[in-house]
Amino acid sequence: MKTIIEPFRIKSVEPIYFSTAAERKAILEEAFYNPFLIHSENVLIDLLTDSGTSAMSSEQWAGIMRGDESYAGSPSFFRFESAVWEITQMPHVIPTHQGRASEKILFSILGGKGKYFLSNTLFDTTRANIEFSGAEGIDLLCEEGKHPGIPAPFKGNIDIEALKEFINKKGAENIPLCIITVTNNSGGGQPVSMQNIRETSAVCKAHNIPLFIDACRFAENAYFIKLREDGYADKPVKEIARELFSYADGCTMSAKKDAFANIGGFLALHNEDLAKQCRNLLVITEGFPTYGGLAGRDLEAIAIGLNEVTDEHYLQYRIRSIEYLSNKLADAGVPVMKPAGGHAVYIDAKAMLPHIPVEQYPGQALVCALYETGGIRSVEIGSLMFGKYNEQDQLIPATLELVRLAIPRRVYTQSHIDYVAEVIIEVFENRDTIKGLQVIEEAALLRHFTAKLKPVL
Ligand SMILES: *Cc1c(COP(=O)(O)O)cnc(C)c1O
Repeated sequence: MKTIIEPFRIKSVEPIYFSTAAERKAILEEAFYNPFLIHSENVLIDLLTDSGTSAMSSEQWAGIMRGDESYAGSPSFFRFESAVWEITQMPHVIPTHQGRASEKILFSILGGKGKYFLSNTLFDTTRANIEFSGAEGIDLLCEEGKHPGIPAPFKGNIDIEALKEFINKKGAENIPLCIITVTNNSGGGQPVSMQNIRETSAVCKAHNIPLFIDACRFAENAYFIKLREDGYADKPVKEIARELFSYADGCTMSAKKDAFANIGGFLALHNEDLAKQCRNLLVITEGFPTYGGLAGRDLEAIAIGLNEVTDEHYLQYRIRSIEYLSNKLADAGVPVMKPAGGHAVYIDAKAMLPHIPVEQYPGQALVCALYETGGIRSVEIGSLMFGKYNEQDQLIPATLELVRLAIPRRVYTQSHIDYVAEVIIEVFENRDTIKGLQVIEEAALLRHFTAKLKPVL
């Protein structure tokens, strides 16, 4: 087989600013060892997130010019609505400024004290919006998903038995919604199988619990189904995506992921009554229902992106390029999550840095080492992001201590990725010299965004 090439040419470029390791050491100290506080011009390869960082296509930029900025009834909205319908077949489409705005609206209506929201794994903003409403978010990830080093095809699946048990224990009346995240971002970008979604839907239906999809990476998930699940090899990705959504009552989406947009999101659903309540909130928090939190030009970019992302040459290149980096690291002995996820490579920091206890955030320590050594910005997905404190103020650590290298869509070439691999392998070889960190300042919710840290001496 020949090399799988980037399925695009480059028309417009942005410079990368170079820095030295000594400069980066000082920058890191100034940023309190938190990559979210580093100025992006001081980053060589930015793998902080795949969110809103995609390169838009020439068609999308043309759409930006075509965008109609009418306050009400803009044709850009109707193109957006029909692009969302094409994939989800959901009649009520509500544009929001990003995914979390959809979550805020949905959980403000359905949340509240004493309620539980069940999931394979809730993303951090989803969990925060659930908790902010007073409700509790419950992750019921399948056993395979909890072992980063052991490969399995669908490690994003929800544990169906645990789901049934939880519903029986707490009562369906206290569970307003089950939400499946595809692919499972916080669990390694691992896909959910069609069978698992079908079974979840059956359990939910039996108990009258609506099923929603957190659809940020629906196309990457659909492509994994095509590659790995029996009966889907010959089906077009768009058809697979439609089947996936057919089991759901609604979805939330961040268009900053699989829609290649730099901003945007939506809520789509079947239930007219709930849609009405959502639109009522939309008008006071986001905007009029035909633009929500977006400009007409953004609606155009999203509509075009939603169509482009189901192109299978693109998805083949996308999934392969993540796997390429993952395999390079694994071959050098770096403990990575196996198999590679859809949008990112995850390093198992607990396995790589056994000399750093979880209370000293091994993931964050690795993130800092990658930045200092090679100017690569990544993010910790572990106890800094998900850890909580017990009543004695001791850390309740997260299950996994991962470092995520999220690959922006259509942005970096193979030589950028080769450089990333070289830096990580260098850090791996010097891993014994990496020191742990302690938190010196933090916020109550989503603390990883703003926390300040310092090295443990
Ligand atoms: C990014 C993301 C969100 C939130 O979307 P924003 O556009 O960042 O607000 C929700 N769920 C998942 C799985 C995500 O990856």
